[in-house]
Amino acid sequence: AKNKHIQGAQFYSSEKYNEIRKRATMENELRKAVEHKDFHLLYQPQIDLRTNEMVGVEALIRWENEELGFISPGEFIPIAEEIGVIGQLTEWVLETACLKGKEWQQQGIPPLRIGVNISPYMIGEELVLMVEKTLEKTGLEAKYVDLEITESFMQDPDYAIHILKKLKEIGVRLSIDDFGTGYSSLSNLRKLPVDCLKIDRSFIQEMLEDEGVIVKTILDMANHLKLSVVAEGIETEDQLQFLNTLHCQVGQGYYFSRPVAEVPVTSRFLSKG
Ligand code: C2E
Ligand code: CA
Ligand code: CA
Ligand code: CA
Repeated sequence: AKNKHIQGAQFYSSEKYNEIRKRATMENELRKAVEHKDFHLLYQPQIDLRTNEMVGVEALIRWENEELGFISPGEFIPIAEEIGVIGQLTEWVLETACLKGKEWQQQGIPPLRIGVNISPYMIGEELVLMVEKTLEKTGLEAKYVDLEITESFMQDPDYAIHILKKLKEIGVRLSIDDFGTGYSSLSNLRKLPVDCLKIDRSFIQEMLEDEGVIVKTILDMANHLKLSVVAEGIETEDQLQFLNTLHCQVGQGYYFSRPVAEVPVTSRFLSKG
């Protein structure tokens, strides 16, 4: 398909041409950024909905480029996967997040779990080695690392399960990200060595219209399988109250906090309401 594009390039409209040029620039700049570790991380608090205490954070990568401006991870992560730099990028994220976790502990902040997003492309032996090496290098205990993986790895469930088991042996926590939007069947879910389901934001947003049937179902299932749950994308008081009536344990979203560079020093989280 790529050749066809190149052959036809002379017929492209200038709009299409600009798009292609922008993409090429983005690829080049992304390669450079990965080489120079030209990113930073923000951290979004995860709150225990019963006690209002912050129990963890999710690390979210940010990239601001001189030429291209601010580019969202939703845009550049897929490109990083395509051009083969996602491994280096993930290694940087993992190490930076672990160092931050260590720093917070040294500052006397009650230990927080740090969620790190792992691209499904990364599921493999190399990831296992990377996690081991990073924990050793940074000195953070494995139990404070929470790897967030979307269900798309389930395209090859047997291999994925094999790798996830190895990660569990290291002692890290495993969460399924964007739960409910992907492929995993119930029978697969039972076999997965994971600890937590992160209910996708879309279900939280629709929750008050559909009487929460989907969220309720996910919570029932999680209880049954003894899995923890994080509700993602809580934006309003109403959503929070409804989740409380469903006894959802942990939540995350703009209602509590946007992703921030530094978490509040106290573990008791005072929501802005
Ligand atoms: P995600 O893992 O589902 O992360 C949650 C996204 O929802 C974040 O967007 C976060 O800023 C946003 N969010 C949090 N609370 C709310 C809310 O209440 N309302 C709304 N509307 N949005 C909320 P962000 O930071 O733009 O990241 C987008 C996606 O990019 C992430 O989705 C994740 O898949 C990917 N990503 C981010 N950082 C990394 C990373 O370090 N590595 C990898 N592989 N992927 C990353
Ligand atoms: Ca995530
Ligand atoms: Ca998510
Ligand atoms: Ca997502």
